[in-house]
Amino acid sequence: MKAPLGKIRFSLALLFILLAANFVMAQSVLHPSVPSGDRMVPNGDGTATATAAPTGQSVTTGNGINYNGGPVLKGSPVPIYIIWYGNWSGTGSNTAATQTLLQGFLSSTSLGGSNYEAINTLYGDTTGNVSGHLNFVQAVSDTGSQGTRLRNSSITAAISAQLTAGHLPTDPNGIYIFATSSNVKESGFCTQFCGFHTHQTINGADIKWAFIGNTDQCPSGCEIQATGPNSPATGVGGADGMANVMTHETEEAITDPDLNAWFDSSGNEDADKCNFKFGPTQIAPNGSKFNQTFGGHNWMIQLEWENSRGGGCDQVLGGAFFTS
Ligand SMILES: [Zn+2]
Repeated sequence: MKAPLGKIRFSLALLFILLAANFVMAQSVLHPSVPSGDRMVPNGDGTATATAAPTGQSVTTGNGINYNGGPVLKGSPVPIYIIWYGNWSGTGSNTAATQTLLQGFLSSTSLGGSNYEAINTLYGDTTGNVSGHLNFVQAVSDTGSQGTRLRNSSITAAISAQLTAGHLPTDPNGIYIFATSSNVKESGFCTQFCGFHTHQTINGADIKWAFIGNTDQCPSGCEIQATGPNSPATGVGGADGMANVMTHETEEAITDPDLNAWFDSSGNEDADKCNFKFGPTQIAPNGSKFNQTFGGHNWMIQLEWENSRGGGCDQVLGGAFFTS
């Protein structure tokens, strides 16, 4: 998920230079930066991916986003695991209240069962469709095994430690969210991106994970508003900002888990195509804007690209398309 501001886009040029000089893994981490040629991984079995559509809409194309042959996550629901990294017993939005709110947000009775998440059912692979359901299963804490200045390799090490110790299951069909408190620095966070997802072999399995930092580290770069509908106080918008990034990265991790399934000719995945677009909004009791209500809360979360009707960004499956 790229940051919305122009000044941050300027730094993308620097990012490309850094990536070119960096190790190979970094290229696949920042999915919008992966050259499309790297992502065109053939099935290898001679199957014609463009025409194989045994389950109907699963590989429907022609809606502004392309199917590139790889698998999607088809769990019903897709299990979500969270590693809360850093100091979540702190101040502002670095609190247990944020953890509780976001774990509830990712449950099957909230985002995971919403008409918004149902937009994802229009994506599939040659063996079936995305279910449109996800559910928070388990969280663990890591108060700082890798310090407060992270690189992607530190995140891999921290996730690997949880899996090899058996604190979290090793589940190739789930998504692992690595959520950092606002004092934790991650190379590129807040300057080039607000979150990203990738996959790696960890503990012998193809693990899909996403980095999602507390956006209160850079409200102007990664939050649509400094005070969100669930803010505990004015200007403490981190929980709502993270909820927005969580929708983005989980949508993409489900429809493009191995970075070889759904993205357009520019390398943009489904959520990238609606990045920081929200559609019509309403005003919450605290004066903030929101555009969705489910699970007993109001939320301000971006639109998702619908893979039907020619393609467009909408708030619910089959809803109106919006351009901003
Ligand atoms: Zn993205």
